[in-house]
Amino acid sequence: MRRLLHRLCPSSSRWLVLGALLLLNTVSRLAAEPRFPPPDFSETNHRIPVTTTPGARALWLQYADVAVLLACLAVALWLIYRKRSRRGVFWLSLFSLAYFGFYRQGCICAIGSPQNLALGLFDPSYAVPFTATAFFVAPLLVALFAGRAFCAGVCPHGAIQDLVLVKPLKVPLWLEHALGLVPFLFLGAGLIYAATGTGFVICRYDPFVPLFRLSGRFFVLMAGGAFLVLGMFVGRAYCRFLCPYGALLKLASLFSKWRVRVTPDTCTQCQLCEHSCPFGVIREPSAGALPPQFLGRERRRLGGLLLLLPALIAGGAWLGSKLSVPASQLHPAIQLAERYVRQQKAPAPYGVQTADALSLQRAEENPEAILTAAADLRQRFKLASALFGGWVGLVLGMKLISLSLRPSRTDFEPDRGACFACARCFLSCPNERVRRGLMPASELPLPVGGNAGLVT
Ligand code: SF4
Ligand code: SF4
Repeated sequence: MRRLLHRLCPSSSRWLVLGALLLLNTVSRLAAEPRFPPPDFSETNHRIPVTTTPGARALWLQYADVAVLLACLAVALWLIYRKRSRRGVFWLSLFSLAYFGFYRQGCICAIGSPQNLALGLFDPSYAVPFTATAFFVAPLLVALFAGRAFCAGVCPHGAIQDLVLVKPLKVPLWLEHALGLVPFLFLGAGLIYAATGTGFVICRYDPFVPLFRLSGRFFVLMAGGAFLVLGMFVGRAYCRFLCPYGALLKLASLFSKWRVRVTPDTCTQCQLCEHSCPFGVIREPSAGALPPQFLGRERRRLGGLLLLLPALIAGGAWLGSKLSVPASQLHPAIQLAERYVRQQKAPAPYGVQTADALSLQRAEENPEAILTAAADLRQRFKLASALFGGWVGLVLGMKLISLSLRPSRTDFEPDRGACFACARCFLSCPNERVRRGLMPASELPLPVGGNAGLVT
């Protein structure tokens, strides 16, 4: 069976698998007939709004989604830690792509779930769906104990990018560090816009969901296509440089109880695994303790950065509050109030009965309510933008501090936070190959710089 599957899906056929999934998705949609034809509004020129999200699901189906998530997480952990099987993780990720991606059309999804919680926290009239809470909590809990098993085999966004990866190129370290800040900033922006009731911008600008639904706004579809093309050469570009939920998982995995290791045996520092990770997150052993004469300078630098942190937070908060007006213009109520004010200053004849024109006509029935609501929202945005600015300062400050710290590593190890637990690197290690009986122990290479610790 294993051989048959391997023959059915060698790595070069991943594009075919993706094509087949897309084709199946298209055919199933074309075959789905609407039960009732849409009403005819040709006399009033009313345009029927395009539905961009899937319809509500029966409660038991929502519970089924949570059950599938939990089962997939359990299988991922078993495959990564017990079986140490890249092939198993690959097949699990294909299932997740088919189920959470193409079948569930990227909704419900863990990536957008922090927004549900943020809105629920600030708007008492919003009831956070049980599924959103479960999709938020379960992968994070797993990451706290065992790293990013969710990214490895359960997230459809990761799976679709893994399918298109052809020749991973190394991203320069300075660029990796700089772009690695973006997910944290996107997370902050997403939470602020959700908490103020503006909308779920993380979902609105998700580049892969329109591909799963085969519909969506043109530029987001284009962004999805661009990420897939980029993903041929930069492994999981979205996960590394944009995914806001990935930022949370990264933080959680830094404290994980268990972590992925290239080999569960002794690392003999042969360096063979060094370039096996397509995401460049295998770190080499640290250079050892600093000579005493440099310690003072390092401590002074760290102290300076710790003092700089509150200044960065305060400066960010001040700058954020100054930018609250443009930030608030994404909110539909503020957009409506601004349109209303413009219409009063320079009246324009109403044309086609678009949703915008209708809302403007209704605004004229009770302008006080619209303008008061907009003024309240502007105040809320002042606070929200200051919080976001402070968050940006905190992220920058913590990044500077983390860069100045010297991690202590004795072996070649995956970076705890950045490792996706995909299991690709396992078989690059000769000790792992010997352990699994794929290679005789006599063929083990000598470690670089001697044979201390050589496993025989
Ligand atoms: S398990 Fe981690 S270190 Fe190994 S290839 Fe995957 S992402 Fe890289
Ligand atoms: S291939 Fe294995 S033994 Fe060699 S450096 Fe990597 S983890 Fe260590």
